[in-house]
Amino acid sequence: MIDLGKYEIWFVTGSQHLYGPQVLEEIAKHSREIAAFLDSSKSIPTKVVFKPVMTTPEDITRLCQEANASDACVGLVTWMHTFSPAKMWINGLKILSKPLAHLHTQYYREIPWADIDMDYMNLHQSAHGDREYGFICTRLRLDRKVIVGHWQDDGVQKELGIWSRAACALADSQKSKLVRFGDNMREVAVTEGNKVSAQINFGYDVYGYGVGDLVKVVNEVSDKEIDDLVKVYLDTYDIAPNLLPGKERHSSLREGARIELGMRHFLQSGNFTAFTTTFEDLHGLVQLPGMAVQRLMADGYGFGAEGDWKTSALVRAMKVMNAGLKGGTSFMEDYTYHFSPKGDKILGAHMLEICESIAATKPKVEVLPLSIGGKADPVRLIFDANTGPAVAASLVDLGDRFRLIVNQVDVVPTEHPLPKLPVARALWTPQPNLKQAAAAWIYAGGAHHTSFSFSLTQDYLRDFAEMAGIEYVAIDNSLDLNHFKQELKWNDLYYHVAKGL
Ligand code: MN
Repeated sequence: MIDLGKYEIWFVTGSQHLYGPQVLEEIAKHSREIAAFLDSSKSIPTKVVFKPVMTTPEDITRLCQEANASDACVGLVTWMHTFSPAKMWINGLKILSKPLAHLHTQYYREIPWADIDMDYMNLHQSAHGDREYGFICTRLRLDRKVIVGHWQDDGVQKELGIWSRAACALADSQKSKLVRFGDNMREVAVTEGNKVSAQINFGYDVYGYGVGDLVKVVNEVSDKEIDDLVKVYLDTYDIAPNLLPGKERHSSLREGARIELGMRHFLQSGNFTAFTTTFEDLHGLVQLPGMAVQRLMADGYGFGAEGDWKTSALVRAMKVMNAGLKGGTSFMEDYTYHFSPKGDKILGAHMLEICESIAATKPKVEVLPLSIGGKADPVRLIFDANTGPAVAASLVDLGDRFRLIVNQVDVVPTEHPLPKLPVARALWTPQPNLKQAAAAWIYAGGAHHTSFSFSLTQDYLRDFAEMAGIEYVAIDNSLDLNHFKQELKWNDLYYHVAKGL
């Protein structure tokens, strides 16, 4: 469902006419070679497109206008091979509305000690050309990513790859439509927010539909479609015996399939990329959508429970960022604590809706009662999550801005089997430890709902937050809680001032 290969980042080299046509040809040759190399890099999922060497303010302004207008272009990678007087860049950079990366590199890796002369020095001068360019970016207060190193280095390719994935997520977000089936869960604060502010920052549009509109589509699903999807279930999962064809609860499995198909049709026909449900508003739906939500998330849809559209959009953005990577991303909730002398831990889960992309083993399908909601017993996928490093991310609306809070965590095996727990789950130790991480999270106003990812690191989310112009705070092993509390206060002041009116 998510294809990052359709997106482009434009590789733009700066210079000036001072050096004469021969040198400019040489610069273009080098630049073309670097762009082609990055285009073929396995670390970069987008196309990397060479653009002509920029030598005049008019060309730079036109290029930035073209980038703004291009559907495919998600960002610009800029590099000053030689000296490019930076006043030339002011008009273009002022109007550029796409993310900007500054690749501070050099064509040759090492100094040719025996042969270096002034011709060489005059051609390979990004060491000072990029500083001139960097000044004007700083003078314009531009949020951008500076990446330093030789262009063939793995680390440089990876950093560009991370940045390009974040840029794809922002491009996707700017065109996304999110549908809420029902409103926010009554009285819950953190899942609320200003949808106009969200659209200004991220671009996505949040629609509300009555659950009856969904029920109508669910009821139109044909028996043949249900038969086919049930076959997929039987082939894919470990199905509880009572749900098998001919057994006493098989109709529950078929009802789950009907709900999945109805939701899928609704999302496809409206071009929605993310959605929310709420167990308080299920009028006409037989079950709370469980397995349906889990499987739609696995296909790349964003999801937030209880009307949580901000988390739904964040799950979608993170699924765009991790397209094609190992791991997985899911909606998640901090559920229960394990305070133990062997190390405090968090058990994460939700009523039903954890994405199977983070499953360690083949999920089991079961139908079990739900203690809240007052509907028929819903079918759900049950599994233990993978183990290893992961991030938990929460997006909150502080009234004057959005804050993205990210906790680096280590997911570990459960100490014992959990035979009576009827939902998918993950057990983790938050960095630096639960005592400090939870305090920092709560001081920052982080929600109980998160988007939880094994494939992404903080670097992706920091790049994404900077591109969207929102606040980013991290909780990891480098946390100093007192400093963190001060950082929150400084940020209050910064965002108040930086916003202007
Ligand atoms: Mn919840």
